[in-house]
Amino acid sequence: MTINGIGVSPGIAIGKAHLLRKQEAALSGVVLLNEADIAIETDKFNNAVALSVQEVEAMISNYDQSQGNEGLEILETHIELLSDPQISEDVTGKISKEKKNVNDALIEVIADAVQLFKNMDDEYLSARAADVQDIGNRLLRNLSFSAPTHAPHYETDTIIIAEDLTPSDTISMDTTHVVGFATQAGGRTSHAAIIARSRGIPAIVGCGVTLMNIKNGDQLILDGQSGDIIINPAQEIVKQYHVKRENWLKKNHLLRSLKDTPATTPDGINIKLFANIGNANDMEQAISFGAEGSGLLRTELLFMGRDALPGEDEQFEFYKAVALKAKGKPVIVRTLDIGGDKQLPYFNFPTEQNPFLGYRAIRICLDRPDIFITQLKAILRASAFGQLKIMFPMISNIQEVRAAKVILQQAKDELTKAGITFDKNIPVGIMIEIPSAAITADLLAKEVDFFSIGTNDLCQYTLAVDRMNEQIKDLYDPYNPGVLRLIAYVIEQGHKNNVEVGMCGELASDSKATLLLLGMGLTEFSMSATAIPEIKNIIINSLLVAKEIHQRVMEMDSSALITAYLQEITL
Ligand code: PEP
Ligand code: MG
Repeated sequence: MTINGIGVSPGIAIGKAHLLRKQEAALSGVVLLNEADIAIETDKFNNAVALSVQEVEAMISNYDQSQGNEGLEILETHIELLSDPQISEDVTGKISKEKKNVNDALIEVIADAVQLFKNMDDEYLSARAADVQDIGNRLLRNLSFSAPTHAPHYETDTIIIAEDLTPSDTISMDTTHVVGFATQAGGRTSHAAIIARSRGIPAIVGCGVTLMNIKNGDQLILDGQSGDIIINPAQEIVKQYHVKRENWLKKNHLLRSLKDTPATTPDGINIKLFANIGNANDMEQAISFGAEGSGLLRTELLFMGRDALPGEDEQFEFYKAVALKAKGKPVIVRTLDIGGDKQLPYFNFPTEQNPFLGYRAIRICLDRPDIFITQLKAILRASAFGQLKIMFPMISNIQEVRAAKVILQQAKDELTKAGITFDKNIPVGIMIEIPSAAITADLLAKEVDFFSIGTNDLCQYTLAVDRMNEQIKDLYDPYNPGVLRLIAYVIEQGHKNNVEVGMCGELASDSKATLLLLGMGLTEFSMSATAIPEIKNIIINSLLVAKEIHQRVMEMDSSALITAYLQEITL
């Protein structure tokens, strides 16, 4: 029997199932009678906080850095959450005003906070509910002074099966014997998934309720790429997966060993591999995958999952944190790209027939200079702490670029007047993701320092295919000759006009496209950090055929021919 979930950490595990079942905390319903009780319960809470902080601090000092920094950062967040004044105020408020005992007060406050995070639209923020639950469990355990549960020792080749794993469960997991895990709940950005990736443990999340039908001791094959869990497979299948596992380990070892190798083609051209990121943590992770900077910081992620626009200072701290984590490497900060599929609950978007063709991105920023200038000032201030560049999204004509630059100049003037330092020569670029911009790349090049080709939207607008519509997903085809010709033209015009050209859409991470893009002359690729080693491997081994591939593809008249050809030559 096979169960399918979301493969969040690649690799193949073959082993025996070990089921973990969590115990639910129960409300006692005890009502406090007098002030003395209130004082006792409040003290119990404060002691539990102090004990919990001590425990997490001990985990931090014993942390094995060779396992990657992700776990350490999570533990640091737990210290912050344990010291969060809101949680403390809510718990002590329930004790003193509602006369609840500390156990019940804590269970209710944590349940509310967990729900609040879970309801957030942003996938990353909603996954943080697991951290709140985690510190809640720790506090509850420390209320009754019960000994911390030490990570149990597992048999060799254990595969953990659980409804959910808290970040602490995952961090303290004995990975000398645990070879993989699968959970009923969870998503790609859950901490369990993040830690599994950083430790290289194959993992599958979001498997649904049938996962818990697995029994202790069942033999399992877990494929962290496809998301398949095969239960009690035939010996023939086990043999096949042993071979698959060996091949995967070899390839993974090779790719990881390339981390500090420059992405240079055999004919000596240095290719820059950047990461697409959403925050400072992503920047750090990206560097661990060998990224040479970021070709796209999607700043709208800061604006999502909250109930008001972030102010200049908050934005400044956010961009500064990214700049510091980049350690002098370049970061392209894209200004607000909301609208279309990226809605903000607190922003009054008009009702539109075609939101993807409507009020979005630079169009909103030019219409709302108050929002735009706040963001630009925050980015400029952060530019004193690293090598930042500014990029405007969804440019459809030259006037928009000029208007955006006028507001940028205004932001610079205001900062200069206030005596605030920033990079006065901060490079300015635009996304090429609308066909009119691609076709006028020669004109636009005169206005900016760089282009970044956004193939996700360029494909949608060139082919008139909604990128979100499942029904027509086969038409959404970046290998359509029309899209490829636009890309080639932008690269050519960029270079002719001394403008740097990068690509930050998904095509940059598609290994089928790498040689073709090299042949077109693309020298900067920005993608999800985990794709970098594979693309680098292709570049290093690219031979001198890339130009020839480009020539041949340009002569073909259908995407079927092009993809079949590229598939055939992919290394
Ligand atoms: C793109 O359109 O290719 C792009 C990178 O931007 P987004 O996916 O955020 O629209
Ligand atoms: Mg886009």
